[in-house]
Amino acid sequence: MAIKKIAIGGISTECSTYSPLYQNESDFVSLQGQDLLDLIDFPFDDYGIKISPIFFNKSVPGGPIESWYFRETKDKFIAKLESLGTLDGVLLIMHGAIFVDGIDDPEGEWIEAVRDVVGKDCIISVSFDLHGQMTDKIVNNIDAFSAYRTAPHIDVEDTYRRASIMLVDALKNNQRPTVLWSPIPLLVSGEMSSTFVEPCKSIYKNLELLDQRQDIIDSNLMIGYVWADTQRATASAVVTCTNKKTGSEVCQIIAKLYWDSRQQLKSNMQSGNVSAAIISIPKNFSIIADSGDNPTAGGVGDRADILEAVLSKKIEHVLFAGIASESAYNELQKGNKFNIGGSFGGGGPNLELNADEVYFENQCAIARVQNITIVVCKRRRPFHYLSDFNELRLKLKNYRLLVVKSGYLSPDLQGLSCPSFMALSSGAVNQDLKNIENRHRKRPTFPFQEFDEFVVEVSDGSNLLS
Ligand SMILES: [Zn+2]
Repeated sequence: MAIKKIAIGGISTECSTYSPLYQNESDFVSLQGQDLLDLIDFPFDDYGIKISPIFFNKSVPGGPIESWYFRETKDKFIAKLESLGTLDGVLLIMHGAIFVDGIDDPEGEWIEAVRDVVGKDCIISVSFDLHGQMTDKIVNNIDAFSAYRTAPHIDVEDTYRRASIMLVDALKNNQRPTVLWSPIPLLVSGEMSSTFVEPCKSIYKNLELLDQRQDIIDSNLMIGYVWADTQRATASAVVTCTNKKTGSEVCQIIAKLYWDSRQQLKSNMQSGNVSAAIISIPKNFSIIADSGDNPTAGGVGDRADILEAVLSKKIEHVLFAGIASESAYNELQKGNKFNIGGSFGGGGPNLELNADEVYFENQCAIARVQNITIVVCKRRRPFHYLSDFNELRLKLKNYRLLVVKSGYLSPDLQGLSCPSFMALSSGAVNQDLKNIENRHRKRPTFPFQEFDEFVVEVSDGSNLLS
């Protein structure tokens, strides 16, 4: 078999349209060369495939991407792709929830530009986050699609592998698959659709069974991204298949399964407003998730609402990990007085505090104020892993309460098996969906509007199949 040539790369982030924090190059990390090959970790060489890594730019979710940065990055990607000459395949690693002012479908535009360069014979296989958006433009320009099947996401590598295998198989067998999709007018948060609890646990289990059907290669349920008030925002079923009739049936099955379970989509964490969260604190170690300001969903990450409540109630032995503020970090480098909260324009109180003690570690200032510990981070970041605390020399056993900026708890924090409470706090990723601004989403979309009638439509990106 003659050597085949493929390229790999893409861009990944989530953009809350409720966040004032625009993203640009300073927010993105760019994986290139061997680092990108290591990320995909697939033995393309064994199949006689030569792989050219372009780049994969990734950020902690935030607000919209500045349009100049998006266009510049896309143009750079396309120029590199063009410089590679004729390609047999492309593996695109995307998220699917980018928002750019003035661009209705950023991923669609990116993927369409890739198709324009590589031509119609090239196989384009795509990997998405299940919190991504699908559109006709995306589907029309790709040949294979796979998305995560877990949230919290623990199958990222496996999803890259599924997309890679589809690409290799298509090249090896000279058979081009087809991608079909069905929008589902339903948008909820990741917390309401965790794949580790019902109803999504069973639905995602079902995808593996649907994959076993003749002519079905990869079945997906996209939850979509709820904090972008855009026309394209929707859940969807997406199926890679070799037969449109069977693929269409499977799209309809997935769409109906999800739609029929809409009333059961609820967070399984105990939850309530910030006051209820404070009242709920038990004597022994527990966790509060400040969900409205969760940076990994697009939250601003510097809101001090819960910190203010904890200080006013004089609750001690509390660890806040962490609150983002470069200015507070710089103030603490100079002395003990610092101001924190509300400085990114995302709302919430601004508190003037005095640290009794402070030390610095790994781009964080760890300040002790009135017997509570506040991790002031130079940059927006999550605290999802137990190693994040170890790196800062913080021992969770020394605290009664841990406050993290998170929605559902990460597998590491869940593993602590302690009482936890999801504070339905204000912010750019507010979980109180019925009360968030809703001007651009298609109507009707559940739960923004209550309705029962939904007829599944299946499309191959250019034609409606049913
Ligand atoms: Zn996600």
